[in-house]
Amino acid sequence: MGDYRIETKCIQSGWEPKKGEPRVVPIYQSTTFKYDNTDEMGKLFALEDSGYFYSRLQNPTNDAVASKITDLEGGVAGMLTASGQAALFYAIFNICESGDHIVCSSAIYGGTYNLFSVTLKKLGIECTFINPDDEAERIQKAFQKNTKLMFAETIANPALVVLDIEKIATIAHKNEVPLVVDNTFATPVNCRPIEWGADIVVHSTTKYMDGHATVVGGCIVDSGNFHWDAYGDKFHGLTTPDDSYHGVIYTERFGKGAYITKATVQLMRDLGAIPSPNNSFLLNIGLETLFLRVERHCSNAKAVAAFLRDHEKVSHVNCAMLEEDPYYELGKKYMPKGTCGVLSFELKAGRKAAIQFMDSLKLAAIVTHVADARTSVLHPASHTHRQMNDQQLKDAGVSPGMIRLSVGIENIHDIIDDLKQALATV
Ligand SMILES: *Cc1c(COP(=O)(O)O)cnc(C)c1O
Repeated sequence: MGDYRIETKCIQSGWEPKKGEPRVVPIYQSTTFKYDNTDEMGKLFALEDSGYFYSRLQNPTNDAVASKITDLEGGVAGMLTASGQAALFYAIFNICESGDHIVCSSAIYGGTYNLFSVTLKKLGIECTFINPDDEAERIQKAFQKNTKLMFAETIANPALVVLDIEKIATIAHKNEVPLVVDNTFATPVNCRPIEWGADIVVHSTTKYMDGHATVVGGCIVDSGNFHWDAYGDKFHGLTTPDDSYHGVIYTERFGKGAYITKATVQLMRDLGAIPSPNNSFLLNIGLETLFLRVERHCSNAKAVAAFLRDHEKVSHVNCAMLEEDPYYELGKKYMPKGTCGVLSFELKAGRKAAIQFMDSLKLAAIVTHVADARTSVLHPASHTHRQMNDQQLKDAGVSPGMIRLSVGIENIHDIIDDLKQALATV
């Protein structure tokens, strides 16, 4: 949407009604779309014409919202998925197949870790985990001939490691593979990874984008910057004929739209993790206030982090908005407006005290969720990262006593008072 600033794009992008059309993006609650003759619809199936025909592939409500997020991220094309996990799977599977390999940051979301280390492995896609803070030479050693992409999170959930996107993008590009970045925690309000060299951006829209804990969803945005056809048949799914569409070659026919078109007409056609238009409508309402909410999440989190840091019962706080945090400089570079509302900390008295503290909270609720308007807490070692052994927990930046706190947008004094009273019980 032109040169509007991001606050404006959050509200206006993706839906530009013409005369007499609804001002608000409507819910196209229809599985199917009508055509006047056989040939018209035939052309859609042959990818010779574009248009809606079945909501498993595309739906106008979903497309309007995907297009808003694409605009926010500064990409050329995007698609919504039924969940963040589906977005991650499609983003990878769109260019990887059995026999391929990916290089991935070890500081990632627990669900992504399981997807990469267990499920993708069953499909024949191997993953090597690297420490994103290592120097380039060390990370380089993880690459193989069959490596097809590199993956990392802008701000790792829950380790809160801030990614040096430029460094990682340079390594990926030197190895002639795209960098896929999960930008869920930062949101495009605080960071647009494409501007720093990322090629594909994925989101769990379930978090800040929806912002109200109402709908699970995901999104993939392509920068259009990666030259799939510059490396022979390395990305042959995009650069050689697709038999399931009478030999269409995505890069030839769709240019910069190749990656998202393939993910839509092939993966969504065959795997079908489409969001309901109803959910996309709700997501869009969340996106309209994304800028305002993210700003408040960050200022509240910064105040909470400072309070916890100065509290005698707290041993350690992870929040890149604190000057003493090891990721403060990277945070300032990539997210000058603030990082996110999620922080983590540890109590001096350890794991048992952490549980006592959490059970004493009154305003902050124990939920398997982060990044919505309500303040919430979670204990990664007993919840999201329960499947990991001690070494895997350590690599993911999770210690047994760590508490993850998602600071909401309630009044800051109410949030801090609640933490105060719960700390007093420990
Ligand atoms: C929540 C989350 C996911 C998974 O998304 P769902 O919408 O729950 O499927 C992936 N990545 C990150 C960083 C997340 O926080």
